[in-house]
Amino acid sequence: MSDEDRHHKIAQAAHIIQGARHLVAFTGAGISTDSGIPDFRSDSSGLWKRTDIDPLEVASLFGFRQNPGAFYKWVKPLATTILEAKPNDAHHSLAQLEVRGTLKAVITQNIDMLHTRAGNSTIFELHGHMRQTTCIRCYAVFDGVPILEQFLQDGLVPHCQHCGGVLKPNVILFGEQLPVRELRDAQDATKKCDVMLVIGSSLEVAPANQLPIVAKRNHAKLVIINLEETHLDHMADVVIHARAAQVLPQILAHLQDV
Ligand code: NAD
Repeated sequence: MSDEDRHHKIAQAAHIIQGARHLVAFTGAGISTDSGIPDFRSDSSGLWKRTDIDPLEVASLFGFRQNPGAFYKWVKPLATTILEAKPNDAHHSLAQLEVRGTLKAVITQNIDMLHTRAGNSTIFELHGHMRQTTCIRCYAVFDGVPILEQFLQDGLVPHCQHCGGVLKPNVILFGEQLPVRELRDAQDATKKCDVMLVIGSSLEVAPANQLPIVAKRNHAKLVIINLEETHLDHMADVVIHARAAQVLPQILAHLQDV
């Protein structure tokens, strides 16, 4: 993309956002790579490019129940970076858009809690989060962060202090249903939106990836900001293939002038 092309697309995106009455953002792992958290599918750094581990096995509910130790070993580097990560300029830009009154909701596939840390208040975390953990035997719920910190220190699979069952972070594993209320609220926000801003998602994971399609069918405008092509690029009104932490502040800077 030439500088001129990029500048033009940023101006177009700003124009669309400026005209939005109900802007909703839909984010994926790519918005957090500039906070040091690797995504799943990027060619260079994606977590799935590791050939020694099959995430469909260790990060599935079945796999977790069979061998929680393998899950915890796999999730350890991700949990370490998530606990240390800070929101980047893309997260901060979305928080500013909420303060301006433009952005009504963030629908995220991320488990890293960075939208909350950036200051957004209406967030639907479709794939869960790490702030809580649940016993898979008695379903008691605990604060997730101290339990993860303890695990990162001693490397021991955490167990429930009430019944001794294994504790599972409240992240949605393969084979698990999405949280019903979050999904319903995200669907409602999608139906209401007149502009959806898709940021840093390969749009490969169902059913979350249906939401931009639903928005478009309801005549919302679609703006996609992603490093690589996605299979919904052809549907979008503006597509910007660039880093979200660079592009979003540029769009915001434009908004002041529009
Ligand atoms: P994905 O890994 O499938 O795709 C990420 C996309 O973001 C890629 O297409 C990549 O080109 C793009 N990208 C990478 N860096 C970018 C940047 N700086 N700016 C713009 N685009 C960038 O991610 P997904 O679509 O969210 O789906 C994967 C699943 O992975 C989700 O279910 C999510 O729960 C989980 N996940 C979450 C985190 C997190 O919470 N940060 C991290 C890894 C995986």
